[in-house]
Amino acid sequence: MGSIGSNLQEVKRRIAAACAQCGRDANIVTRGTAPGEPGIVLLAVSKTFGTEAVREAFAAGQRAFGENYVQEALAKIDALVDLRPAIEWHLIGPLQSNKTRPVAEAFDWVHSVDRLKIAERLAAQRPPELPPLQLCLQVNVSGEASKSGVAPAELPALAQAVAALSRERVVLRGLMSIPEPAAGLAAQRAPHRALRELLAALNARGLALDTLSMGMSADLEAAVAEGSTMLRVGTAVFGAR
Ligand SMILES: *Cc1c(COP(=O)(O)O)cnc(C)c1O
Repeated sequence: MGSIGSNLQEVKRRIAAACAQCGRDANIVTRGTAPGEPGIVLLAVSKTFGTEAVREAFAAGQRAFGENYVQEALAKIDALVDLRPAIEWHLIGPLQSNKTRPVAEAFDWVHSVDRLKIAERLAAQRPPELPPLQLCLQVNVSGEASKSGVAPAELPALAQAVAALSRERVVLRGLMSIPEPAAGLAAQRAPHRALRELLAALNARGLALDTLSMGMSADLEAAVAEGSTMLRVGTAVFGAR
């Protein structure tokens, strides 16, 4: 591994190469997009790494950071308040309903919404002076293997209900998944394809979702090939945890 700056360059090179392979525009952006804005977002997953690592990535131009653990993230967000508003925080880990208030107050995106109650609480608790919180629904594309995420059969009802919440407070942007690790491009592509098809089915039913949060350090090429619009990359940016 090189410096964080050179790791970021290498990850962008991998994304661009994957785009070239499948004829996608290599329009890589380092902060979350607005609804309808094109681009592949690179989210730097900084969980377990300290504020100095985040500052180093920020200095190299990275703006969007993903965190898994609410308590750890809130401490980091506080310590890096001087980088606001340019820095952007995404919660990608599990969210309990008794932790929604600080999340609604401190984050820009939440990728791990898997039930209506969580989305309702985030909408009620999002401070009106902030821009709306951007949400993704976490889908369990690996069946029994993973415990978090909504089952595909329950996704349409949940998506309709979340999309109907106040858009002043929360905006449903798309879907997120954490598939079981798999070896080889074909095996890695299958769950990403499933998520893409679920998003297309929701849009065919009248929703206007534009975000597929899928792909990590080991499988970002497979995710790009299946249409990912947001890659969550930790190890390849910051090193092994
Ligand atoms: C840790 C984590 C990542 C990043 O994984 P790497 O393999 O380190 O790139 C992405 N998404 C989620 C939900 C994670 O927990």
